[in-house]
Amino acid sequence: MTVLLTGGAGYIGSHTALSILNSGKEVVVLDNLSNASPEALTRVEQLTGKKAPLVVGDCANREDLEKVFSQYKIDQVVHFAGLKAVGESVAKPLMYYRNNLDATLTLLEVMQEHGCFDIVFSSSATVYGTIQEMPLKETFPLGCTNPYGWTKFMSEQILRDTGKADPRFHIVLLRYFNPVGAHESGQIGEDPSGIPNNLMPFICQVARGRLKELAVFGNDYPTKDGTGVRDFIHVMDLAEGHLAALSYAEKHAGVEVFNLGTGTGYSVLDLVHTFEKVNQIKVPYRIAPRRPGDIATCYADPSKAKEMLGWSAKRSLEDMCRDAWNWQKNNPDGYRR
Ligand code: NAD
Ligand code: UDP
Repeated sequence: MTVLLTGGAGYIGSHTALSILNSGKEVVVLDNLSNASPEALTRVEQLTGKKAPLVVGDCANREDLEKVFSQYKIDQVVHFAGLKAVGESVAKPLMYYRNNLDATLTLLEVMQEHGCFDIVFSSSATVYGTIQEMPLKETFPLGCTNPYGWTKFMSEQILRDTGKADPRFHIVLLRYFNPVGAHESGQIGEDPSGIPNNLMPFICQVARGRLKELAVFGNDYPTKDGTGVRDFIHVMDLAEGHLAALSYAEKHAGVEVFNLGTGTGYSVLDLVHTFEKVNQIKVPYRIAPRRPGDIATCYADPSKAKEMLGWSAKRSLEDMCRDAWNWQKNNPDGYRR
């Protein structure tokens, strides 16, 4: 059984590659390396003792995909490939729609031509928009607040329509909450280029002294300490969620959507203080104005994934903080060493 991971050299993709290889399936990666290093897959190979061949190419390019599908017998696909920076998507919407939607459309066309019908798609909790009722359930109405979110919303719709029109498809849509942390070896992890946008990589950079302090965006939200609350999920739990989704896809035709979160919300200050405690290191911070577009609270109802996929997150906030720092400490410059 061979699984194609589009965008598989990236953060979530490389951790998922490791889990899939350890489960006994084969992996092939297609990545244009726009936000990843091939070193991630070299390390996955070292950790698992198995090959994860990388085809450097674009998922929106039919020839690149044809090459993969003719060279390998692909049984299943996990579609991670996409641009993911919310702020950049507001500044460059056409680039986001072009890349993320073309990647999904071209992939589905080539899969259909090659008789491959199992696909797991990386969606996001961002498709729930500004709904205030928590926890978020898969049945809630959707709506987005930025072009990145709309590319996920539209890709979900494209996948749903495709599944409806062609009953041979087995489609699983996964809505991730806030993936953080790294593999416990500290050999692979999140390696953002430039100044990180997301909270955990920013905290890691402050802890190592590359950035002076964390700006906590707002302490006047209606939450227990006034700072934003999110459903942080360990990236290895998320990776294991993909294994469960692939097994589900093997057996079930049609389209199904699942939240992948822990079901527990922690605040920005919870994360900062847990990081300090677990790693015995100071994270200087100051309170700054709210970041435009942020919501107060966001956490999942993960019960559908538990019931239907037999998956639930196992790792704690302490594990997330310890593993994120372990990766950062061992690799102060990420994959650039
Ligand atoms: P990432 O940027 O590390 O990984 C995405 C990978 O896709 C990168 O390796 C990049 O080089 C590649 N890529 C982008 N466009 C491509 C294209 N056209 N062809 C081939 N490769 C391409 O991001 P990640 O955090 O691993 O996220 C993986 C997926 O999960 C993305 O679709 C992202 O939108 C989604 N997601 C991420 C988060 C998060 O917080 N990290 C949350 C929800 C959803
Ligand atoms: N956040 C923050 N400072 C930062 C980055 C993020 O206070 O430098 C807060 C942000 O306002 C939100 C939470 O941390 O409440 C998670 O933000 P992140 O960008 O990691 O993920 P999001 O939930 O926005 O996808």
